[in-house]
Amino acid sequence: MTRTISRRAFLATSGAAFATVLVAGCGASQKPTPAPEGSSSDSDAAPSGIDYLALVNKQHKLPDGWEDAVTITHFVNTEGWDVDVEAKAYEAYLALKDELETQDGVFVDLDSAYRSVAAQQEIVDDFTEKYGEEYVKLYVAVPGYSEHHTGLALDLFLIIEGKGVYNNEDMVQYPEIWEKIHARLADHGFILRYLPSKKICTGYSYEPWHIRYLDDPALAHEIMDAGITFEEYLDEVEPCVAGCEVDYGTSERYREPDMDSALEAILGEFRTWEGCVMQRFAYAGDQSCDDDELAYVNELREGDDSIKEAFDQAIVFVSDFHTPKDAEGAWEADSDYKDWTWHLGRTGADGSWRLMTWGYA
Ligand SMILES: [Zn+2]
Repeated sequence: MTRTISRRAFLATSGAAFATVLVAGCGASQKPTPAPEGSSSDSDAAPSGIDYLALVNKQHKLPDGWEDAVTITHFVNTEGWDVDVEAKAYEAYLALKDELETQDGVFVDLDSAYRSVAAQQEIVDDFTEKYGEEYVKLYVAVPGYSEHHTGLALDLFLIIEGKGVYNNEDMVQYPEIWEKIHARLADHGFILRYLPSKKICTGYSYEPWHIRYLDDPALAHEIMDAGITFEEYLDEVEPCVAGCEVDYGTSERYREPDMDSALEAILGEFRTWEGCVMQRFAYAGDQSCDDDELAYVNELREGDDSIKEAFDQAIVFVSDFHTPKDAEGAWEADSDYKDWTWHLGRTGADGSWRLMTWGYA
């Protein structure tokens, strides 16, 4: 296994490693993606016999036959690592890179792009042996379900003062550079794939470096200008959270996976509120998850015989949602409900969150 593959296997998923249960409902239906109408790229590369708009994510597997149809270009990057990338995406990337250098003085290189299903399986086997199954489940993409299998997903890294900056935690320190890069993506047929606050749609946290080639600058512009995810464009997002943004805030108490499992518990309830659409979830903040809150959810727990053990953690979310036109009962029809709160408790950091109550606190 090459160094690039094993390192990226970890890094590419680390930012999003815990996006697990939350997206279980996103894009449940398998819908054929429209075939691109001819090429609008001016590259000379022989096009692959692939659908450049194929969706591959945690719910959508790489289409059958892809690996036989895709045309891969191989090159060695400035760090000496082998990189494989789909041929037309590579041509478009070179044009993007050239423009960034000459127009913006921004220097980038490609870290990792194409990874075969077999290579991903090798990583899973290797990491399972080294770190165990639990770890692999959290940090390593399931073979067949990584967008990198398409060859159309490219992980960039920055070159700053002649030095490669490619660790995720270092790369995010340069938001103004990423802004310049993102501004030029669509002209070359690329989109930014994992937008901030959109893990609920994509399954991944914000990754400024992961771009996706669509072979269609007009379409890329449409998506980038609207500020939506590829899933939203393809209508592959669970209707009750379409357009929803999640603000994890900052917390000393909870990590994103803790919050994701709490959100999944909330969605379990919210999905039953027919026609309601969630617009925003926000973590209420550490100050709202204090001893008073813990005492509150424990008080509620005492009224529920199914929960034996006392909670030792409490979490609160606030949300905005919209009710349907034909809402009945207690709901005001066709209305926005703002700052609606959700209160949950759990026992132990590994325990599952129980949704105890909701409403206006
Ligand atoms: Zn990536």
